[in-house]
Amino acid sequence: MTNHNNIPELNVGVVGHIDHGKTTLLSRLTGKFADTHSEELKRGITIKLGYADATIFKEGNNFNINKKGIPVRYISFIDAPGHEMLMATMLSGAAIIDAAILVVAANEGIKPQTREHFAALQAKGITNIIIVQNKIDLVNKEQALENYKKIKEFVKGTVAENAPIIPLSAQQGINIDKLLEELNKLKILKKDEKVSPIFLVARSFDINKPGTDIEKLNGGVLGGILKQGTLKVGDTIEIKPGITIKKHNEINYQTLTTKISSLFKGTKSVKQVTPGTSISIGTELDPIVTKTDSLSGCIVSKQGILPEITYKLKIKEKLFEEIAGTLEHQKVEPIKTGESLMLSINTTITIGRVEKIKKDEIELILKIPVVAITEDKVGIARNISGHWRLIGWGEIIG
Ligand code: GDP
Ligand code: MG
Repeated sequence: MTNHNNIPELNVGVVGHIDHGKTTLLSRLTGKFADTHSEELKRGITIKLGYADATIFKEGNNFNINKKGIPVRYISFIDAPGHEMLMATMLSGAAIIDAAILVVAANEGIKPQTREHFAALQAKGITNIIIVQNKIDLVNKEQALENYKKIKEFVKGTVAENAPIIPLSAQQGINIDKLLEELNKLKILKKDEKVSPIFLVARSFDINKPGTDIEKLNGGVLGGILKQGTLKVGDTIEIKPGITIKKHNEINYQTLTTKISSLFKGTKSVKQVTPGTSISIGTELDPIVTKTDSLSGCIVSKQGILPEITYKLKIKEKLFEEIAGTLEHQKVEPIKTGESLMLSINTTITIGRVEKIKKDEIELILKIPVVAITEDKVGIARNISGHWRLIGWGEIIG
């Protein structure tokens, strides 16, 4: 589905503890099952983000996804990646979310992963939050009220203090319209069209049917999100880190440079795109290069804009007081020289070894290089008894 109606659009992350009903809710909201995703160890771990889109319609005072009334808003939902423990790390470094739905099962309440995901939203500065009290069909009125109070306590003094809390049942389809109504109220964040473009590649593919004549072959296609700026047909673009070339035991990265031959907003062909989701870029690249998501996790900009990829990263860190994803209250120990941390930047995850610490500035040597853009957010996770736990976030300074 695509935004054919030129209505306001928003990227909404769906977060919360495992089994609290995120995927069920997403299929209710969109009428389809969100892709299941996997992260794969490619350039380290590139997270494949799964999207499920919906257009919200309004008829009288009623909100629906059944095309009744007029289209009012287009939402691209982002589900937690397969390994949900990575969601928090990813979220705090991800550039892709404008708002979030925090799902809390009414029969279970606030759980470690609820806390962890919520901490990640705060780290990322997401203030556009709707809380869903799911599985309302499993509790009685008193229990529902008790759970509501607990949620209120949990968000007290945070950015979500006044966030709406919608009791619903994703499975039974109760109160879904109320959630659609709240989604329609979310603030649309204005994105900058005047600055240099930053396009995050979520998918890449070869659209040619097998056996197509060489002369008639279409170039490789990139799908993803334009975070800022404008792209036009005819622009010369650079894709970084680009392709990996293995020589002996060494991996080298090669930036790709090509021209934009076509642009699509959803399935509609356009000459120019401004920040938004569901954008595809047709290029002059050999389609073999873009096959089966081989370029997902890459960043695209106009030629000469992106910095060289780097194995060295300097960030200003801000650690949480407590680790968010564990049951017992565990303090976050300061970062130590020599330790390895998992970092999430835009849509890529890498591992870095801490080389130097100066107050709140840390320097790391990365296993997998990244495109380091100053001021971009970084999610920081530490391995604690075999689990990567979000311990804070940072900002790239060099
Ligand atoms: P996720 O791990 O957060 O994505 O959770 P799922 O969507 O996979 O749901 C976990 C389980 O809870 C599944 O068996 C769902 O059928 C069930 N479930 C989800 N929403 C509801 C609900 O509103 N009521 C009830 N009774 N069960 C639900
Ligand atoms: Mg799920």
